[in-house]
Amino acid sequence: MRDASRAVRRAGKRLGFVPTMGALHEGHLSLVRAACAASDVVAASIFVNPTQFGVNEDLAKYPRSFKSDCEMLEREGVALLFAPAVDEMYPGGAATWVTVEGLSSKLDGRSRPGHFRGVTTVVAKLFHIVEPDAAFFGQKDAAQVAIIRRMVRDLNLAVKIVVCPIVREADGLAMSSRNAYLDSEHRKRALVLHRALIGVQGLAEAGERDTSKLLAAGREAVAKENAVRLDYLEIVNPDTLDPVEHVSGSVLVAVAAYVGGTRLIDNILLDIAPPATTLPAK
Ligand code: AMP
Repeated sequence: MRDASRAVRRAGKRLGFVPTMGALHEGHLSLVRAACAASDVVAASIFVNPTQFGVNEDLAKYPRSFKSDCEMLEREGVALLFAPAVDEMYPGGAATWVTVEGLSSKLDGRSRPGHFRGVTTVVAKLFHIVEPDAAFFGQKDAAQVAIIRRMVRDLNLAVKIVVCPIVREADGLAMSSRNAYLDSEHRKRALVLHRALIGVQGLAEAGERDTSKLLAAGREAVAKENAVRLDYLEIVNPDTLDPVEHVSGSVLVAVAAYVGGTRLIDNILLDIAPPATTLPAK
């Protein structure tokens, strides 16, 4: 992989990179298309990274569709695919971690201890192997975006991070490889995540600025749906992931919930104009 990517860069070409865990859908392909539009050559990776799964999580049953993934990537114009084995990425005795402290224990990091340490470690390793000019991530994983941006800044990595919007099904459900776990009943119930976010957005745009009221409305919407258990619904600063009390400027409304046994996440970015200030009289 490194030889191939260095050859690209030696030829003076810009290399774009899309890291994934496979089981590809239109969300992933939107990143690939953005990468193709902004780069001369695009590399993708498929690696179901064991270190970002907790002991009781779905590593063993995570959907895998390597052959059709390869076909999709090829069709989209991806020139290089890096799909390492687990022991290539983590040779016996691997003991080095990359951790973004603080941020990694917020939102998903609170309910999935160690998850973001696994993500930042594998992304740092992938960046070192692929050495891309730019890497493309989805807004779907909003906390991951904040953490990777911070890692890149803190470690002076020479990679431009490009974030692409969430791709949804026609009915609003955010695309996710884990949607494959949902039967038709749970698939319908899962729509409550997006519905709750849209509800919060509507209230905020109608003038409600008090986060506790917005959250109460969103949480109530989720509580009404059978077989859905809320993990978190929060309104936070998109860079620090710290809760905000009043909605003003750019805020992230993020939700995670168990739909049956499947944990899903979704979010929406709001940009609410700060209160008008009175201009001094002339
Ligand atoms: P994953 O394979 O789940 O690790 O995701 C790989 C990349 O695809 C991550 O940057 C995700 O944020 C992004 N991604 C996953 N689902 C979507 C989606 N529905 N819309 C946009 N990007 C997505």
